[in-house]
Amino acid sequence: MLLHLFANKLRLVYLNKAPDRKRPASRRTLALTIAEVEVFRDSRFPVWVFDIDRSRVIWANDPAQEVWAAASPEELRARDMSADMSTSVRARLQQYQVGFSNGMHFDEQWTIFPHGTPRSLLCRFRGCLMEDGRMAMLCEAQAVNPDDVNLLRSSQALLYTAVMVTTYSATGECTYANPAARRAFPVAEQAALTRFRNAALRELLSSTPDAASEGTYLSDVVTSRGVRRHAVEIRQSYDPLEGRMNFLVTEVDVTEQEAAKREMAILATSDALTGLRNRTYLASAAPAFLASAARNGKIAALLLLDIDRFKFVNDSLGHAAGDTLLQEITRRLSHALPETALLSRLGGDEFCCLLTEAEGVSERAFLRVGTGILRQLRRPMLVDNNDLSVSASIGLAMSEKGMTTFDDLLRKADLALFDAKGSGGNAVRAFRPELAERSHRFLMVDTELREALSRNRLELFYQPRVSLKTGKIVAAEALIRLNSPTGSLVLPGEFIPIAEATGRIASIGRWVLREAVRHLVTLRETGAGMNLSVNVSPKQFEDPSFLALLRQVRPTIDGVEGDIELEITENVLVETDRRLQRVLKQISDLGYKLAIDDFGTAYSNLASLTRYPISCIKIDRSLIAHKDFRLLVTGVMTIARTFGARIVAEGVETETQRHWLEKHLCDEFQGFLFSRPVPFADLQRMVAAER
Ligand code: C2E
Ligand code: MG
Ligand code: MG
Repeated sequence: MLLHLFANKLRLVYLNKAPDRKRPASRRTLALTIAEVEVFRDSRFPVWVFDIDRSRVIWANDPAQEVWAAASPEELRARDMSADMSTSVRARLQQYQVGFSNGMHFDEQWTIFPHGTPRSLLCRFRGCLMEDGRMAMLCEAQAVNPDDVNLLRSSQALLYTAVMVTTYSATGECTYANPAARRAFPVAEQAALTRFRNAALRELLSSTPDAASEGTYLSDVVTSRGVRRHAVEIRQSYDPLEGRMNFLVTEVDVTEQEAAKREMAILATSDALTGLRNRTYLASAAPAFLASAARNGKIAALLLLDIDRFKFVNDSLGHAAGDTLLQEITRRLSHALPETALLSRLGGDEFCCLLTEAEGVSERAFLRVGTGILRQLRRPMLVDNNDLSVSASIGLAMSEKGMTTFDDLLRKADLALFDAKGSGGNAVRAFRPELAERSHRFLMVDTELREALSRNRLELFYQPRVSLKTGKIVAAEALIRLNSPTGSLVLPGEFIPIAEATGRIASIGRWVLREAVRHLVTLRETGAGMNLSVNVSPKQFEDPSFLALLRQVRPTIDGVEGDIELEITENVLVETDRRLQRVLKQISDLGYKLAIDDFGTAYSNLASLTRYPISCIKIDRSLIAHKDFRLLVTGVMTIARTFGARIVAEGVETETQRHWLEKHLCDEFQGFLFSRPVPFADLQRMVAAER
């Protein structure tokens, strides 16, 4: 500690030392009386008495006067040392005073600055009882050789530092320990290497010191405060007395820092909601997991899991319910997986699981784990008083003889997951090389779509719907086309699902609607008003601006002949999602008519049709093409008639089909027999030719 005492006139720097309590604490033996001090008159060492209460030197022998550079004893006594004395020094001197009364003495190194010249002194302070009964301070000093000052300072620093410093001989014996180290030894003076829990460190300290042994270690250490974590630095050095190589060991207690670091690491690598490991942890731990599997001759696999339609849970029941559901899903997953599996949540509703099986095991074994998970998830879960049954899509990728990296596995499992999702979910799919090609194609088509949207390369073709009674065009279905600059043909059957997956369907859908409205207005202007139907993907109902656009264009198409009909698939109607149902209700409230597309390919749940204003049912091409389905088709037509919907037969290619439909009183047909989908201008010409 460095303190400036008596600034300007006399500056005093001192390093304090803990009181020596080993000495007998008898006041009479240690505290001399002022009269007894006279024995120091002829001492060759500087001795003086300081009146702590009055801050004055009251007695000094000749060497002391010399040390203080005093002109005379009177001049020294006249000096008022309190003038610049700091409060901390004053407090310290008062503490000494109490210590003296308890028989203590203090050894310190002082540097005083009489008239600005530094003088280093080794001092012993003890009590001196004055005649009036007050306790003064007897100071015995010894001048320090200026050459030794650094040595003294460094040894003082060693004494007072909180860093634990020890030296160990080559035989593992502790040859020095500073006070901080001694305080930390488990029982007094027990410096044995056994206090280090780190075996490598113990071994090192009991071997011959050399440069290679230098380094920093972390070790649990048995100390007087229990087991602590120390950062232990080892350097080779010489014993200054024996000249032999030894170890210089410095230790810093890092228990709290390490615990904080560990906690931070756990926080950074785990998922707060489920307590599972997170993506960061997985990325760092997976390579070791795979390497260990390869070393032990095992096959590793990665299952990537995504909850089907999780968004709807969040949207309809709220995020709190979504969170509860994820926690329950985590429990079920942990249940369905072997203990050795490494399960983590990658974010949102995506989970990843790394597992191993004995070599030679087939893909089926891993697929079984996947189906086990699906089974667990299907069991009803009670969330916010709602009985939910969850399904998931799972992609599987397996390591190949330890050749597969984690990134590779993740990429493959991702492709397999995409495949599982594409199949409608609730499925486990394994990676196959074709999936990579498909993904390549996916990217290519998506790029084309993006460019087509921004460069106006989309076009609406129309396929006429023809009345079976009159043989005339009564409506037309808008079918989107992508004009690729390379001339390659990409049909909506391919790019619509891709646009649905990427979310690009929202802007495509809005474009289609605007374009169809524009065409409808053009047709009316030429006196050819008729219904134009547009296809609407289920995904478009998730786009709020689609509803806004429907509302916005409504006045433009109201009240005149011909309307926009929305073709939706029957799956949309049987969806249990309440939000979707709400949107459908709003759309029909706006006055839009709904047509059911591809009827007969899904559940054909006619009951669900009665809830909405269905203007038209389009029977799927597959039912029209096969005679076997005719009974079914007549049934559908009978029921549709009961709620006043028109029946349109899709994909009519032959005269036979047309005849049959005509005979069975089907209302309209569309198909290659009459016309393929054509550009709008062609449709206009066809309609004009009929008038
Ligand atoms: P869809 O709505 O069922 O349309 C009928 C599909 O059958 C059209 O295929 C049409 O070209 C084809 N088709 C018509 N008559 C015949 C026939 O006699 N024989 C055969 N083999 N096929 C026939 P396209 O244009 O390739 O469209 C495929 C699907 O893409 C559509 O099926 C529809 O689901 C979707 N789609 C097309 N345009 C759009 C759009 O603007 N938005 C959305 N969301 N989907 C669209
Ligand atoms: Mg359609
Ligand atoms: Mg169809």
